[in-house]
Amino acid sequence: MTDTIRDVAIIGGGPAGLSAAMALREAGINDIVVIEREREAGGIPRHCGHPPFGIREFRRLYTGLAYARRLVEEARKSGASLLTSHTVTGARMDEDKIVLAVATPDGMTEIAARRVLIATGTRETTRAARLISGERPLGVFNTGALQSYAYLEHRRPFERPVIIGTELVALSAILTCRTLGARPVAMIESGERPTAPLPYFVYPRLIGIPVLTETKLVDIIGRPRVEAVRVKDRQGNERDIACDGVILTGQFTPEAQAARLLGVEIDPATGGPAIDQFGRTSHPAIFAAGNVLHPVETAGWCYREGRSIARFIARDLQSGLPEAKAALPLSAEGALRYVVPQRIVPGEEGIGHLQMRVKAAASGTLSISQAGKVRSSNAISRLPERRLTLSMPDISTEGGAVVVTL
Ligand SMILES: Cc1cc2nc3c(=O)[nH]c(=O)nc-3n(C[C@H](O)[C@H](O)[C@H](O)COP(=O)(O)OP(=O)(O)OC[C@H]3O[C@@H](n4cnc5c(N)ncnc54)[C@H](O)[C@@H]3O)c2cc1C
Repeated sequence: MTDTIRDVAIIGGGPAGLSAAMALREAGINDIVVIEREREAGGIPRHCGHPPFGIREFRRLYTGLAYARRLVEEARKSGASLLTSHTVTGARMDEDKIVLAVATPDGMTEIAARRVLIATGTRETTRAARLISGERPLGVFNTGALQSYAYLEHRRPFERPVIIGTELVALSAILTCRTLGARPVAMIESGERPTAPLPYFVYPRLIGIPVLTETKLVDIIGRPRVEAVRVKDRQGNERDIACDGVILTGQFTPEAQAARLLGVEIDPATGGPAIDQFGRTSHPAIFAAGNVLHPVETAGWCYREGRSIARFIARDLQSGLPEAKAALPLSAEGALRYVVPQRIVPGEEGIGHLQMRVKAAASGTLSISQAGKVRSSNAISRLPERRLTLSMPDISTEGGAVVVTL
C-alpha cells in the first residue's frame, strides 16, 4: 500500500524521461519521480562511448556516456528524484491515481502518481525475431549488446565483424568497433542504397570498410564461434565473407512492455503506445514520449520531445488539457509505415507536427484527407528510416477520421 501520491511518475531514465523531469520542475510541478530499471540512469547514450551527443541541448559536443552523465546531473539538480535498479512490473488504476508495482533490490513496492509518463525507449530486433537461419555460434550481437560489452564491461568480443545494416545505428556500431580496436570487414545492405544519408558513408569508405548494397545475409557459419557469413547478391550469386563476429543493427521495436502493463492502446504500426498531439495515450492520465513512440530517433530529438510533452503534462495538472474524447483518429496509408500522433484534437497544435516513416524508398504526393476531402498535399521523396515530418494539419471537427497517404 502507498500513502504518498506523486505528481508525475516517469518510467524510463533516458533522454526523454530525464528531460521531461527537468521540464516538469521548470513548469512548477514539484513531486516528480523517475523510475529506471538499470543501475544508472541515462538510457541508451550511457552505452555509447562515442560522440556526437548534446550539441543542441547543451551546446557542447559530448560522447554518449558524458551526455548521459550530464542529463542525470541536470535532472537531479532540478529536484526530481531518480530511482535506479527499479523496474515497473505492473499497474492498477484508481479513481484519482495510477498505482505502479515496482521491483526494487529490496523487494516489491508501489508508487502512486496523478500522471504517468512512459519513456521506455526502443531496442533492436533479436536474431531469433529476424528469422536468421544457420548455426548459433558465439559472436553474434546487436549494437546495443555490443555497446554494453564495450563501454560498460570493457570487453572485445571479436576483431573482424561484419555489420548487417546501414542506418545511423550501424555507424554507431563502427565507432564502437574502432574504440574496441576491432575492424569491420564489410557492411551489408539489402536495399539499393545505404539507409543513413550518403554523406555519413564517407566515413566507412575512408577507413576502408566496403558497403555491399543489394546484398542479403543468408547464413551465419561457424562453431563454436562465427567463422563467416554467407551473402547473396542481386543476381542470386552466393559467397562467404570470412569474419569472426556479426553485428545486427537496426530493425527497432519500441520497448512497450510497461505500456502494455498499463493497458494503454498500442499502435500496431509503430509497436508503441498510440498518442494524441499532447502525448496522451488512450488513458488520459498516461502520457508517452521518446523512442517508445517511434522507432527510431536520435537522443536530441527524444530530449526535445520529452520536454515538449512534459509541458502538456504540467498544463494538464495545472489547468487541464482539451477533452481527450474530442480527438479524431489519424492513420497512415500507402507507402507510409506509420504516423505519430495517431489521434488529433481539432483546432489544437500540441507538439506541432506529424512524424512519419516510409516502408521502402518512396516519392510522390503526401496528402492529408478527411472524409475523402484533401486538406493538404506536398511532394516528397524519402528513404526508409529517415525522418519525415509535416506541420500539424488544420482539420475540421465535423470531417471524421484523418488519413495521411503517400
Ligand atoms: C543500439 C542503439 C544505439 C543507438 N545509438 C545512437 C547514437 O549513437 N546517437 C543517437 O542520437 N541515438 C542513438 N540511438 C537512439 C536512442 O534510442 C536515442 O539516442 C535515445 O536514447 C532515446 O531516448 P529515450 O529516452 O526515448 O530511450 P532510452 O534512451 O532507450 O531510455 C529508456 C530507458 O527506459 C528504461 N526502461 C525501459 N523499461 C523500463 C521499465 N519497465 N521500468 C523502468 N525502466 C525501464 C531503460 O532501461 C532505459 O534506460 C541508438 C539506439 C539504439 C537501440
